[in-house]
Amino acid sequence: MAPSVDDGFVASLALPAAQTADLMAELEARRPHAAGTASLACLAAQKVLGDDAVIIAPVRQSLVDVNWSQACRETPACVIQAKSAHDVATALKIVTHFQVPFAIRSAGHSPNPGWSSISQSGILIDLSLLNAVTISADKETVSLGPGGHWGQVYEALDPYGISVIGGRIPQVGVGGLMLGGGYHHFSAAYGLAADNVKNFEVVLADGTVTNANAETNSDLFWALKGGGPNFGIVTRYDVLVVALEHVPALFDAFATWQKGGAADGRGTVSLVVGLDAATLGFIYSSPQAGRPSMFSEFDAIPVLLTAVPPTNGTAASLAALLGAAVFNTKERHDYRAASSTVDAQLWKDVYYAWHKHAIAVRTSTGANQTFVIQPMTKQLVQQGINKGGNPLGLPIDDFQCWTTLIDWSNADDDETVRSVSISTSNMWRDLSTARGLGIDFLYAGDSSRDQNPLASYGSANVAKLKAVSEKYDPAQVFQILQNDGFLLRKLAGLRHHDQDAHSL
Ligand SMILES: Cc1cc2nc3c(=O)[nH]c(=O)nc-3n(C[C@H](O)[C@H](O)[C@H](O)COP(=O)(O)OP(=O)(O)OC[C@H]3O[C@@H](n4cnc5c(N)ncnc54)[C@H](O)[C@@H]3O)c2cc1C
Repeated sequence: MAPSVDDGFVASLALPAAQTADLMAELEARRPHAAGTASLACLAAQKVLGDDAVIIAPVRQSLVDVNWSQACRETPACVIQAKSAHDVATALKIVTHFQVPFAIRSAGHSPNPGWSSISQSGILIDLSLLNAVTISADKETVSLGPGGHWGQVYEALDPYGISVIGGRIPQVGVGGLMLGGGYHHFSAAYGLAADNVKNFEVVLADGTVTNANAETNSDLFWALKGGGPNFGIVTRYDVLVVALEHVPALFDAFATWQKGGAADGRGTVSLVVGLDAATLGFIYSSPQAGRPSMFSEFDAIPVLLTAVPPTNGTAASLAALLGAAVFNTKERHDYRAASSTVDAQLWKDVYYAWHKHAIAVRTSTGANQTFVIQPMTKQLVQQGINKGGNPLGLPIDDFQCWTTLIDWSNADDDETVRSVSISTSNMWRDLSTARGLGIDFLYAGDSSRDQNPLASYGSANVAKLKAVSEKYDPAQVFQILQNDGFLLRKLAGLRHHDQDAHSL
């Protein structure tokens, strides 16, 4: 027969008086008939936490199937679905009082049978509803419920441009990974996931809800960083935000490189910042045994994946590689241009606004967008001059041309999707002008349908272009009959971008 229900235990649950009396009476009445201790404990839990929180046999198969590995799918006497640390405390008091075996499940990704699963003889304490991701007001920590998956965590933090050290696979759970240590791609730079925990909220076996951190319960704090489920049930992990988002560091390195290493003229850096990852390409025009020193600015940036190992290729193999990289199955596309001088802070400011907007638009439309910095160097401009000049009106300076590649599927989303790049190019213009960093040049090869790159070549060059057009096309066939394009006919009435452009 199941153990009797003593006053001390019921009092420890701190229920209102009427509920206490009711619970004691019911448990005493059921005690002789309970199939076993587990079923009486389940009943007690249900009386205290409610029908929706305690699922007694028959336990829904969907609750059993949460465990990732089939070998771990066992049906317990009941599942206690905790919604708070208090619920977890109640569950622990009940299993302790009734001496019922239990298992703790966060995401259930452990493949070990019985770790986060249990048979009819026991109770499963399920933490999947404790899955909140909350950013602190100072944005220095994030509080994670144990029941979330890492994929959910990263997705929740991505729009804010922040991240944490966790698991590498999205399906893996927060709770179990943390208590094992937690190995991440960037652990070499930041330590294990558990090393980045600032505070654990933990429920001890007697139901006490406490905290473990460097000042309070520091020995428990130490033990929880890899010591597993041996000390309590963790109901919240307050973890440090890390600068995993390397885009700012990339911009710093890029700006420094462009002002220094880029002078070696034989190589260039391609930087494509996507919504989830950034790709750096180092391209050098003569065969090398290792990475040329001109790229050393980027050495300190951690690499998630080397997509293409260093290789001595050909122009054709490089083109094939880049072709594969931009392949996209979505049918609609656009790009857009802007320019400014080399200034990492400006790039960061525009990037943060772009990223937030682009993520929101991806959520509503599925559109993918990139943020690309293309270096233009004095040497590049000088080469044009040396080779006879061109009409682009490029300043003889180091600067950058920004572009974006945008891919989406639905024509109804055209306006929403394009609003990201339009607001971004407006921001480039407004911020760079306000900060004295403006470059009034739009690269035609990256300009969108409503932009007017020719107008940015400077009035002297535009006048020359018009004269050439009139000389070689006196009937103005290309202006009148040609359907559309970046045409001289569109320059009439437009503001000419004529600030110190050079007539080359
Ligand atoms: C495909 C795959 C990829 C993986 N990738 C990584 C990786 O990138 N990095 C890494 O470090 N590990 C990785 N792991 C291992 C992973 O960290 C462990 O399997 C971990 O236990 C899973 O945590 P969970 O919350 O999903 O597990 P669960 O099965 O819910 O729990 C696992 C264990 O932790 C206990 N537990 C869970 N939550 C709590 C809690 N809040 N309080 C007390 N005890 C608790 C459970 O009782 C159980 O013993 C991977 C595993 C797999 C199978």
